Amino acid sequence: MSAVWTNWSGGQECRPTATVRPLDDSGVSAVVRRAAERGQAVRPVGSGHSFSAIAVTDGVHVDLSAFSGITGIGGRPSGPTVRVRAGTTLARLHDELADRGLALAAPLELAAPTVGGALAVGMHGSGPAVGSLSAAVVGLRLVDGRGRLRDVAAADLDAARTSLGALGVVLEAELAVVPAGRVRVTREPRPVEEVLDEDFWTAHPVVEAAVFPSASTALTRWLEPRPDHAEDDDGEDDEDEPERTVGVTVAGATGRTALGGATLVERALPRLVPRFNRAVSRLARTVTATGPMHRVLSSPPAVRFEQTEWALPRAAMAAGTRELLAALADDHLEVGLPVRLRVGPPETGWLHPAHDRPTGWVAVRVPRGTDHAPVLERAWRVLRDHGGRPHWASRSDWTAADTAASYPRLPDFRRVRDDYDPDRVFATPALDAVLGD
Ligand SMILES: Cc1cc2nc3c(=O)[nH]c(=O)nc-3n(C[C@H](O)[C@H](O)[C@H](O)COP(=O)(O)OP(=O)(O)OC[C@H]3O[C@@H](n4cnc5c(N)ncnc54)[C@H](O)[C@@H]3O)c2cc1C
Repeated sequence: MSAVWTNWSGGQECRPTATVRPLDDSGVSAVVRRAAERGQAVRPVGSGHSFSAIAVTDGVHVDLSAFSGITGIGGRPSGPTVRVRAGTTLARLHDELADRGLALAAPLELAAPTVGGALAVGMHGSGPAVGSLSAAVVGLRLVDGRGRLRDVAAADLDAARTSLGALGVVLEAELAVVPAGRVRVTREPRPVEEVLDEDFWTAHPVVEAAVFPSASTALTRWLEPRPDHAEDDDGEDDEDEPERTVGVTVAGATGRTALGGATLVERALPRLVPRFNRAVSRLARTVTATGPMHRVLSSPPAVRFEQTEWALPRAAMAAGTRELLAALADDHLEVGLPVRLRVGPPETGWLHPAHDRPTGWVAVRVPRGTDHAPVLERAWRVLRDHGGRPHWASRSDWTAADTAASYPRLPDFRRVRDDYDPDRVFATPALDAVLGD
C-alpha cells in the first residue's frame, strides 16, 4: 500500500495499492501489463485538481510527472502544432510555448493542471468561439489497456480528446497552437441584468462574469488583443503592465482578495455573507492589465473550495442562472464565492460536456470549511433541469443513465473503449458511475 492521496480541495482521498512513476513509454506499458495480470485497476493521475472522484483508485496510480515538456514543433495546413508530453503542467507549457513565440488559443488561467488531466476532463476557459484544450488536439499517443503503445487513429480522436482517462494512459498530445500575442484584460463591475444578456457574451473574444446571488452588480472580466506598441489611455506606448488598481479593488472576477475576507465572515457570521457580498460588488472598480494572455489571466485561488460546474445549452444560460441565484438566495445558501459564468463554442469531443452545442458554463463554489452539500445539491437540481451536463472534474450526482440520455455519441465512445480497454483495466467505481461498464 502506498500513502494516502488527496486531491486539491481535500474532498477526495484514496490509498492506491501502489503509486508508480514510470520514466519512459515502455515503463508505462510494463506498469499496465503487470497490473492487468494481477487484476489491479490502473489510474493515471495528474495534479489532482479535479473535485470529483475521477482520479481516485484503490488500484495503481500512474504518476506522469517524468513525462514533461515540449518534444517537437510541427505544422499542419491549419497552422502550427506542438507535441507535448502528458505530465507537463500548464505553467510549463505556457512558458515553453512563449519561448518559441507560440501560445495556446484556449484562455486557461490555472497553472497547476497537467496536459493529460486537462484533456481527460475537457478543461476550458471562456470565449464564444474559443474551444477547450481538448479542441486543440490533433494527435494523441497513449498506452492502451493491453499495454500497447498506440497513436490514436483520426477516426477515434473525438473519443480520445476528452476521455476521462478511460481509454489509456496518454503519453503525448499534438496540440494546435497560435502565434503568441499580447492582450489587455479589463475587470469591471456591470449590472447583473447586462451579463445575462446574450450581447455581453459576444462582444469580446474572451469574457466571463461572476455574480453573488444577493447582488445587483456582477464582476466581469474580458480580454482584447493588444497590438505591440499600442498606445495606452495616456498616449504612452503601452508596455506590458501589471494590474493597475483604482480605489478599492476586487481582484478579478474571482475577487480573490475580497473573497478571502468573505470566507472568514462566512465562518464567523454566516448571516452577514449576503451583505458582505453586496458591499464587495458595489465597491469593485475597473482594473486593467496588459501582457501575454496566460500572465494577465493567472489568478491563483486565495481559498480552497469545492465546486460544481455545469455546461448548459447556451440558450438556457440566462434562465438557469436566474433560477439558480434565486434558489441560493431564497434558501439562505449564499456563500462567499460568487457563481461563475463562462461560455464556449460546441465541442466535437463525444464526451465533452459542451459536445455539439454552444455552451454556457455555470459554476458554484463553496469554500472549504463550509458545509458544501446543501449548496451543491441545490445547484445540481436547478442546473440539471435546464439541460446541464456536469464538468467531469466537478462534483455532481450524475449517473450513467444521465450520460446515456445526454450524450448522443456515447455508443460510439463505448465501441472505441471496447477496442482500447476491452478488459476495463482503466475502470474505477467513479467511472462506472458515470459511464457504465
Ligand atoms: C482552483 C481550480 C480552478 C479550476 N479552474 C478550471 C477552469 O478554469 N476550467 C476547467 O475546465 N477546469 C478547471 N478546474 C478543474 C481542472 O481543470 C481539472 O480538474 C484539471 O484539468 C485536471 O488536471 P489534473 O492534472 O489536476 O488532473 P487530475 O485531477 O489529477 O486527473 C483528472 C483526470 O485525468 C486523468 N488523467 C490524468 N493524466 C492522464 C493521462 N496522462 N492520461 C489519461 N488520463 C489522465 C485522471 O485519471 C483523471 O481521470 C479547476 C480546478 C481547480 C482546483
